[in-house]
Amino acid sequence: MSDHKVDTVVIGAGQAGIAISRHLTEKGISHRVLEKNRIAEAWRTGRWDSLVANGPAWHDRFPDLDFAGYTANQFVAKEDVANYFEEYVTQFQLPVECGVEVTRVTKKDRQSGFIVETSTGLIDANNVVVATGPFHHPVIPSFATSFSAIQPMHSAQYYNPQQLAPGAVLVVGAGSSGVQIADEIQRSGRQVYLSVGPHDRPPRRYRGQDFCWWLGVLGLWDATEHAPGKSHVTIAVSGARGGETIDFRRLAQQGIILTGMTEAFNAKGVTFKADLLDNIKNGDESYLALLDAADAWVERNGADFPEEPSARERVEDAECLQSPLTSLDLVAAGVGTIIWATGYTTDYRWLEVDVIDEQGKPRQQRGVSCERGLYFLGLPWQSRRGSSFIWGVWHDAKYIADQIAIQHNYLSHITPTA
Ligand SMILES: Cc1cc2nc3c(=O)[nH]c(=O)nc-3n(C[C@H](O)[C@H](O)[C@H](O)COP(=O)(O)OP(=O)(O)OC[C@H]3O[C@@H](n4cnc5c(N)ncnc54)[C@H](O)[C@@H]3O)c2cc1C
Repeated sequence: MSDHKVDTVVIGAGQAGIAISRHLTEKGISHRVLEKNRIAEAWRTGRWDSLVANGPAWHDRFPDLDFAGYTANQFVAKEDVANYFEEYVTQFQLPVECGVEVTRVTKKDRQSGFIVETSTGLIDANNVVVATGPFHHPVIPSFATSFSAIQPMHSAQYYNPQQLAPGAVLVVGAGSSGVQIADEIQRSGRQVYLSVGPHDRPPRRYRGQDFCWWLGVLGLWDATEHAPGKSHVTIAVSGARGGETIDFRRLAQQGIILTGMTEAFNAKGVTFKADLLDNIKNGDESYLALLDAADAWVERNGADFPEEPSARERVEDAECLQSPLTSLDLVAAGVGTIIWATGYTTDYRWLEVDVIDEQGKPRQQRGVSCERGLYFLGLPWQSRRGSSFIWGVWHDAKYIADQIAIQHNYLSHITPTA
């Protein structure tokens, strides 16, 4: 049995682990934050070189620290996001220990609490907060076939166009990652094919305000569940080049060849679903719905925001939208790389507590698991749409810290029975 006893162990020092550490510190709850790599490692090495935050500096941050060197409406470079979290830990003296990997967590037998096995020894903890992020392993669909002449990679392995094999590039997936990566590679002078699935694409700015602001005042960050039929719909936004609306028609005019969803591979190449026009149309509808909601908000609140009719103008359809490709002979098209921007899955094999369901998802409500004392933080839609983002995880972290404090209060008021 361990002689290292602590009230709460937080696993992971990304934004989620750091946020809860701040709230636990405020409440005077003793804890240790264990990070197997470095603080905010995902922002340092898990993303491409040119990435900037999707939201402006005033928004994508914790409430008690600004980004140094950025004005409110700038988009912070990913390296500076990581620096921000390092600075945050230093400034608020948070107990983060880097280079410590948690290898196993088990429930103590017939008593409350957990044994946390780490690369540096055992810890006996009353509570465990799993803040290991929503993205453990890159997902590549099982139908993907390898071709000897084509380099496959996941978006998590993409850093810049120079690292790619010569030739054209097929990017599969057009969420925020896929669409930004495709755009960057096309601008570097290569032919790019972009396979587009169902998506929402909010206006970057409308009537002078950023989409993060609109989602805030319209209450959409606080939505507690996906709109009906939207659970598999990705969101395409970008802060690149000062922030631009993702407009697939404009990308097609620019030279990117859009296709429907990637369906299957055959001896020669790849086939696409006949869903490109529907996906573009539904994306447009989500865009226009947000403009309408914003206009209604302006009207209702008598806000003096300039009208912006040009936001409703439609770029002409390029050839790939007039007669979408149904297949692509990869060799004939000179494709040298396929980038799978198809998301991630989680891996909780080290968590030997019965809190993970058959789909590999934590059984939890607002981060409180079905096992007393075990909490999750940073899950997508944990309490609302904003949960896995920098500003949203702050509020979820406060809630979890409150739950830990509430349990402390009960345990400190056990009425003697002898
Ligand atoms: C490409 C991309 C762009 C994004 N852009 C934005 C954005 O602009 N704005 C925004 O708000 N959000 C953005 N996000 C979403 C989200 O903010 C990030 O994914 C963020 O990194 C999630 O933070 P986290 O703390 O939950 O997880 P992570 O950042 O993944 O942190 C988890 C930490 O846990 C550690 N860990 C894991 N397992 C163990 C273990 N067993 N023992 C010890 N340590 C462990 C990891 O090393 C890691 O450092 C983006 C996500 C992606 C993929």
